[in-house]
Amino acid sequence: MSRIPTLAPGATIGMLGAGQLGRMTALAAAQLGYKTHVYAPDAADSPAAQVSAAATIAGWDDLDALERFARSVDAVTLEWENVPVATVEHLRRFATVNPGPNVLAVAQDRVAEKSFVNGLGIGTAPWRAAHSAAEVAAAVAEIGPRCVLKSTRLGYDGKGQARIDATVDPAQAWESIKTSAAIVEGFVTFACEVSVIVARGGDGAMVAYPAVENRHKDGILDVTIAPAKIAPATLAEAERVARRIAEALDLIGVLAVELFVTPDGGVLVNEMAPRPHNSGHWTMDACASSQFEQLVRAVCGLPLGSVERVADAEMTNLIGDDVLQWPALLAEPGARLHLYGKAEARPGRKMGHVTRLFPKTS
Ligand code: AMP
Repeated sequence: MSRIPTLAPGATIGMLGAGQLGRMTALAAAQLGYKTHVYAPDAADSPAAQVSAAATIAGWDDLDALERFARSVDAVTLEWENVPVATVEHLRRFATVNPGPNVLAVAQDRVAEKSFVNGLGIGTAPWRAAHSAAEVAAAVAEIGPRCVLKSTRLGYDGKGQARIDATVDPAQAWESIKTSAAIVEGFVTFACEVSVIVARGGDGAMVAYPAVENRHKDGILDVTIAPAKIAPATLAEAERVARRIAEALDLIGVLAVELFVTPDGGVLVNEMAPRPHNSGHWTMDACASSQFEQLVRAVCGLPLGSVERVADAEMTNLIGDDVLQWPALLAEPGARLHLYGKAEARPGRKMGHVTRLFPKTS
């Protein structure tokens, strides 16, 4: 039995956040006959607002605007896991919100996230919480000389992070990340980085896309290779871990789990995001149902879609000026181009992506 009512096509989905993930979710919603109403402090002409039926531009703490928004939609979901938990708690007085505040609280804080994952018996890099340069130094003394220091909150694409090794001392690293709460992680010498995307419905049903390999450039995802070319046992373990986490969170929606593959074929969880993920964009072109459609299905109380993969895929992000290649990409037979409608191609900004398909090898 589903814990959320089935919303028939024609209903309106409320979307917290208005970036490209919201845009692609709104497009998937439209394909199934749903409307989207986005809510964000900066929603004007945003990637998601451009393709949605309505947009509210208001702060995360504007209680009246939040109430009006929640009363005007049939269900609320999100494309950004850092929406304040208090915002979601308020919205929940007037509408169902999935994923819920318990999921966000874990995903917003690296210490909560690692504690949760380790509590399930799932491995991560060794870590310690730190609130001062002295605590960072103590953690490095325990963990080892090569570490990564990260702010516990609001880090993405390698922002709010510093490497510690023989050339960078803990005090320097602490000064550089400018935060009051951090996590010190042991540096993992990984064979590769992979991620698994799971969708889970209100009835507890789950589907998982195969693990994909992610290659980064300057801390930002560059290329995703689907499926990852790793040992079958590692693929299976990555999927088991992602499913276990989604179940333990009692997630309704979509969860991306990023993992390091160790040289012996084991996996360690790096981080997770309870929303569609950049490493799942290939599913739009290579699978029966995309990660975005799965989110729509989950939050509307519909059965989840098939994750059947019809092709292997390689997804390349178009960052900043990369987007200027659009004429060549349009001319390339078989290249699937997705642009996000962002006016200005600032360095480091995700402007779009291109997916290329290949015959299935497994
Ligand atoms: P994150 O924001 O935690 O996903 O980190 C961004 C990137 O930094 C990851 O995708 C890895 O390439 C690298 N990284 C993060 N943490 C570690 C670690 N503990 N060991 C080695 N590399 C890491």
